[in-house]
Amino acid sequence: MSGVFYREPGNDYARIERGEGVYLYDSDGRQYLDGSGGAAVCSVGHGHPAVVDAIKQQVDRCAFAHTLFFTNEPQEQLAEILCSRFGEADARVYFLSGGSEANETAIKLARQYWVAKGQSERTLFISRQQSYHGNTLGALSLSGNPGRRALFGPLLQNWPKISPCYAYRHQAVDETPEDYGLRAATKLQLAIDQHGAGNIAAFVAETVVGATLGVVPPAGAYLRHIRDICDRNDILLILDEVMAGSGRCGTHFAFEQDGIRPDIVTVAKGLAGGYQPLGATIARGYIHKEIVAAHGAFAHGHTYVGHATACAAGVAVADVVDDEGLLANAMAMGELLRRELRSALGSNPWLGDIRGRGLFVGIELVTDRENKTPPPGSLGLPTKLRKKAMQSGLICYPGGGSADGTNGAHIMLAPPLIYTSQHVDELVTRLASVLTDIDAL
Ligand code: PLP
Repeated sequence: MSGVFYREPGNDYARIERGEGVYLYDSDGRQYLDGSGGAAVCSVGHGHPAVVDAIKQQVDRCAFAHTLFFTNEPQEQLAEILCSRFGEADARVYFLSGGSEANETAIKLARQYWVAKGQSERTLFISRQQSYHGNTLGALSLSGNPGRRALFGPLLQNWPKISPCYAYRHQAVDETPEDYGLRAATKLQLAIDQHGAGNIAAFVAETVVGATLGVVPPAGAYLRHIRDICDRNDILLILDEVMAGSGRCGTHFAFEQDGIRPDIVTVAKGLAGGYQPLGATIARGYIHKEIVAAHGAFAHGHTYVGHATACAAGVAVADVVDDEGLLANAMAMGELLRRELRSALGSNPWLGDIRGRGLFVGIELVTDRENKTPPPGSLGLPTKLRKKAMQSGLICYPGGGSADGTNGAHIMLAPPLIYTSQHVDELVTRLASVLTDIDAL
C-alpha cells in the first residue's frame, strides 16, 4: 500500500533505478530507450557527468539562499547566456521552477506592463485552440486543451481562442503552406477586431505545438504574419517554448527559424534537462524598463525564484549543448529520424502524418489515410500505446484529441539531443514494432 497520490492511481508503476545516456533502467533491471525525454525534458541525456558535477559543487557551496536577500552566481551566469541567445543584451530573465509558473509569470508581466503604461483596460489574452500552456489556473486559462480544462472550466478565465495553425488538417488542397499560414494568421486579426485591440494584453502561442497536437510547426510565414499583426495592433507576442525551446528544434529558440523575436518567451523542461526543476520567462528590455519606471518592481515572486542549484544545472546543460554541438546534432538526427520513420511506417495503414522540427517529431495516426479519419477518443489509444511501448522497452509520448480536441491520436518523440544514428535506428525499429497490429490493442 503506497501513500503516493499517483497520476494514474490504478497503474502498476515500474520503479526507476538509474539513467545512463539515452537509457533508463527500472528496479527489475529492465532497460528502456528514452525516445521522448519523458515529455521533451531530458535534453542532454541521463547521468551527464558535467551536469551532475555542477549540481554537486553548487550544493556544497550553498544549495539555496532566498533571492529576496541574495543573488547567486548561477542565476547571473544563466541570465547572461539566455539574454545572449535571445539576442538582446537588455532583456531580463525571471527564473522559476517549471513551465506553468513561467507562463503565469508571462501573463502577469504582460498585465503589469500595460498597467505601467496607463492602459489598465487590457485584460484579455488571446491564445489558440488545441494548445497547452500549463496546469495552474492562469496557464490553463490560456490552454485550449478541452480534456485538461473539462473539470475546471468554471474556475478559468474565459479568454478568446483562435484556431491553431495545423496544416495536416486545416490546409486546403489548393493552398500552399504560405497561403495557409497567412490565412491561419488572419484569425488573430479577426479576434482582435472582435474584442478590441485596446482590451488585449497579448497573443500567446507555442512556437511548435507540442503534446496537444503532436508536434506541429507553423506553416509558411505564419509567425511572421502573427508578429506583424501584434505590432500593427500594439499587443504583445508571448511565445511558449517550454517544450520547443532550449535546443529541442535545432536552434536555441525555435522562433529563430521563423525570423522573428517575441516580446516575451517562456522556457523550461530542456533548460535544465530534468536535472533540476527549472523554468524561465524572458522579457524584452522595454518591458522591464517600463515596469521598473512605473512601479519600481514586478509584483510577483515564489520561494524558489532564481534557485541557485537549479540555475547551476541550467548553466551546465547550456554548456553541454554548446560544447557537444547538440544544436547541429538535433537538426541532423531529427532529419534522419523523420526519414527513417517514413520508410519504416510508410506502409502502416494507421500512419497519417510525420512532422516536426529538429529532434522534435510527431506522428499522427488515422483509421483511414484517404479521409484522415481520426481514431475515436473513446478507443483510449494513447494510453494503450504508451503501455505497449513500455513493455517493449521504449519510452515515447502518445497523446489524443489531435483532430478536434476529443478525437485523434499521435505520438510525440523528443529524444535526448545526444542521440546518434544507431539510437535513431533503435528507436524506429522499436516504435515500428509497437505500431504493428494496432487493431489488436
Ligand atoms: N507549456 C507547454 C508547451 C508545455 O508542453 C507544458 C508542459 O507539458 C507546460 C507549458 C507546463 O509546464 P510544466 O508541466 O513544467 O508546468
